[in-house]
Amino acid sequence: MSTFDLIVIGGGSGGLAAAQRAAEYGAKVALIESHRLGGTCVNVGCVPKKVMWYAADLAEGLRDAAGYGFAPGAQGHDWRLLKDRRDAYIERLNGIYADNLARRGVTLIRARAAFADHRTVAVDSSRLSAPHIIIATGGHAVVPPIPGAGHGITSDGFFELQARPQRVAVIGSGYIAVELAGIFAALGSSVALVLRTGSVLKQFDAMLGESMQKILADEGVALHTHAVPAALEGGPRELTLLARDGRRLGPFDCVLWAVGRASAVAGLNLPLAGVECDAEGFIRTDKYQVTSTAGIYAIGDVTGRAQLTPVAIAAGRRLSDRLFGAQADRHLDYHNIPTVIFGHPPIGTVGLSELAARENYGDQNVTVFKSSFVPMYHALTDHKPRCDMKLVTVGPEKRVVGVHVIGAGADEMMQGFAVAVRMGATKADFDDTVAIHPTSAEELVTMR
Ligand SMILES: Cc1cc2nc3c(=O)[nH]c(=O)nc-3n(C[C@H](O)[C@H](O)[C@H](O)COP(=O)(O)OP(=O)(O)OC[C@H]3O[C@@H](n4cnc5c(N)ncnc54)[C@H](O)[C@@H]3O)c2cc1C
Repeated sequence: MSTFDLIVIGGGSGGLAAAQRAAEYGAKVALIESHRLGGTCVNVGCVPKKVMWYAADLAEGLRDAAGYGFAPGAQGHDWRLLKDRRDAYIERLNGIYADNLARRGVTLIRARAAFADHRTVAVDSSRLSAPHIIIATGGHAVVPPIPGAGHGITSDGFFELQARPQRVAVIGSGYIAVELAGIFAALGSSVALVLRTGSVLKQFDAMLGESMQKILADEGVALHTHAVPAALEGGPRELTLLARDGRRLGPFDCVLWAVGRASAVAGLNLPLAGVECDAEGFIRTDKYQVTSTAGIYAIGDVTGRAQLTPVAIAAGRRLSDRLFGAQADRHLDYHNIPTVIFGHPPIGTVGLSELAARENYGDQNVTVFKSSFVPMYHALTDHKPRCDMKLVTVGPEKRVVGVHVIGAGADEMMQGFAVAVRMGATKADFDDTVAIHPTSAEELVTMR
C-alpha cells in the first residue's frame, strides 16, 4: 500500500489544479488519470472548440472582407488540415501538463481508479491511501435512449470528424449545441438545429436566446422547435430523425447529440466510500466541496454545479489552499460566474437574468437598461447581425446584478465587467466610467 497526503482522481481542469496547488504547499500528492491529461477542456472541450471557433470566425471575416474592398471569397477550406494542426497543438498541451506535474513532484498514475473504502483507492492491482481524496472525474455527453441513437455522434465525435459533413443536424438547445451549430454553419455545412423546446439557451437571460435564434435563422440554420426525438433511422450519410409528433427531418450526413452531460461516476464504487449522489447522479458536496464522507471531496463537473473549466480550477485551488495552505475558510463562491457562449456572434454574460432578478428582488425593485445596434464593423459588410445588451439593476441605488451581451467582442468584453459586478458596482459607477470610443463595449457605460 502506497500512502499519500492527497489522492486526486481525474487529471482534468479541476484535478490538475488541485493536485498542483497541494504539491506547491509541500503535500505528497498522487494524481490518477485514465485517459489524456487535461480532461474534457483540453482534449474534447473548450480548447479544440475555440480553435474551431477561430476557424469559423475567419470564414466570416473572409465573407465580410468584400465589403472592405478585398477580392471576395475564400478559396475553400481544408478541414483535415485544420484538424491535424489542432490535434498537434493539443498533443503539445498534454505534454506540458505532464511536465507541470513532474516539476511539482506529483506522482502521476495512468490508470482507472475506484474506491476500495473511504481512505483507499484501487488502481490496477495496487492500493493507494490518503487522508484526503478528491474526486474530479468530470462528465460525459448524454446520448438519448431511443432507437438508432448510436448512429449519431456527440461533441467528442465532432472533434474526430475527418471532413466537414455537408448536411448536419445538431440536437439540443444549450450552449454546446449553439456553438457547434454555429461552427458548422460558418464553415459551410447546411445545418438544422433541433430543439425540444421553443428557444435556445433557456438557462440564460431571455434576450440572449431570442437574439441568437434570430441570428442563426438569418445565417440559414433551419430551426426545428418543439421536436422531441423518437428515433434515428438509416445508416451513415443518410440519417433521418423522427420526432414524436411524426415529423421526419433529414436526410443528414451527420447527427450530433448535444442534449446534456452526465457525471462520470460509473465504476468508482462510490458506495464503498459512502459518497452520495443527488437524483441526477451528481456528487453532493457542501460549500467546502466535502462529500457525504469526511476526507473525500468532489470538484468540477462531477458535482453538476456551473460546469465550466475556470470553476473546476477555482474550486480545486481553493480546496487545496484550505487543506494544505492553512486557509481555513477558503472556498469557492458560486455566484456571479461569468461565461461566454462562443457563437457567431459570441455571447458574454454574468450575474442574474432579468427574470431571476425579478423573482429574487420583486418587479418594483428591478430596473433594466437595454441597447440594440449594428456594430460599426458591419456598417460596410453585407450581413448585419445586431449587438444586444442588457444591464439588470436592483434597488434605488441601481446595483448592477446582471450584464448580458450578444455581439461581436462580447467574449473579450465580459471579464472586466464581471469584476465590476462582483465588486457591487452601481449604474452610476458604470455611467461615471469614461467610454472607450469607438467600440461596442462603450454602450455598456452610456446606456440611458
Ligand atoms: C464541447 C465542450 C465545450 C466546452 N467549452 C467550454 C468553454 O468554452 N469554457 C469552459 O469554461 N468550459 C467549457 N466546457 C466545459 C469544461 O470542459 C468542463 O467544465 C471542465 O473540463 C470540467 O473539468 P473537470 O476537472 O471537472 O472534469 P474533466 O475535465 O472532464 O476531467 C475529468 C478527468 O477525469 C478522468 N477520469 C474519469 N473517471 C476516472 C477514473 N475512474 N479514474 C481515473 N481518471 C478518471 C477523465 O479521463 C478526465 O480526464 C466545454 C465542454 C464541452 C464538452
